[in-house]
Amino acid sequence: MREHTSFQAGGRADLLIIPGSVEELSSTLKILAFHDVDTLIMGNGTNLLILDGGYRGAIVKIGRDLGHFETKENILVAGAGALLKDAAAEALSRGLGGFEFASGIPGSVGGAVFMNAGAYDGEMKGIVGFVQVMSSDGERITEMSNTDMDYGYRKSALMGNGGIVVSAAFSLVTKDREAIRSRMEELSAKRREKQPLDMPSAGSFFKRPPGNYAGKLIEDAGLKGASIGGAAISTKHAGFLVNENNATAKDIIGLMRFVQEQVFLNSGVHLEPEIRIIGEES
Ligand SMILES: Cc1cc2nc3c(=O)[nH]c(=O)nc-3n(C[C@H](O)[C@H](O)[C@H](O)COP(=O)(O)OP(=O)(O)OC[C@H]3O[C@@H](n4cnc5c(N)ncnc54)[C@H](O)[C@@H]3O)c2cc1C
Repeated sequence: MREHTSFQAGGRADLLIIPGSVEELSSTLKILAFHDVDTLIMGNGTNLLILDGGYRGAIVKIGRDLGHFETKENILVAGAGALLKDAAAEALSRGLGGFEFASGIPGSVGGAVFMNAGAYDGEMKGIVGFVQVMSSDGERITEMSNTDMDYGYRKSALMGNGGIVVSAAFSLVTKDREAIRSRMEELSAKRREKQPLDMPSAGSFFKRPPGNYAGKLIEDAGLKGASIGGAAISTKHAGFLVNENNATAKDIIGLMRFVQEQVFLNSGVHLEPEIRIIGEES
């Protein structure tokens, strides 16, 4: 799965299926459920680490074929496979503000709605109106409201029920296009300045512990630049574990455990991974 994840690491899946439409997604899931095949849904693979032994089962990748847009007044509906940057560009073209915070997050709409992705004081919880969710067996599509999504920090109700985001309706506000554009440019410049965007990673590796920042705790523990195998702690932003030189998932997991141990010894804080770690060790 190294070709399909932003970490560029990890083993093979038995099957990788990329449905071309919502109907194909539904029939794929029905067949997989009928044959009792373990199934993982993925979007753009920017918050995922697949272990080196790969995934025994089917990975269903929701890509741009399921990434349509529709707008009605201040509502932007986006298919789950649309990239956030394209959804932000669509909102800009319609003069709709509120999506700017997400324009630099490299994931898909589905992954972001599932993860409650957020940045720079914005999060999906603040803009999601309704979500169309397909059941994991492909049989039904239901609508979940923002309240039904039970959002918390990098957490949603879908994490417990296996539901698959098909599309989301975002409640935005009419805003001057120049103001939207300049906010997006400002945030993008901040990212370029602070984040190691030239290296494979899955973004901030750890969740933000209450009242603190993972990057600061890692830096305070003297770990900036530390490495195991091909995996390293970014020298630009200590919250990012990066694939510096053909890292295996084992290198990345080894580094994760080392960081957790050292940060705990140094500050008494247990860092929890934000990224989703899936599959089998080799
Ligand atoms: C350089 C970089 C910067 C980043 N910056 C940020 C940031 O500022 N803020 C932030 O929150 N995140 C950030 N991330 C992490 C990541 O981009 C987000 O979490 C994003 O929302 C993940 O979307 P994805 O489509 O890549 O999901 P994936 O990585 O493919 O999947 C993530 C999880 O979502 C589930 N999922 C994916 N699609 C669906 C769907 N349609 N229905 C149900 N479940 C689904 C998967 O099963 C998996 O559990 C960053 C990552 C990188 C590499």
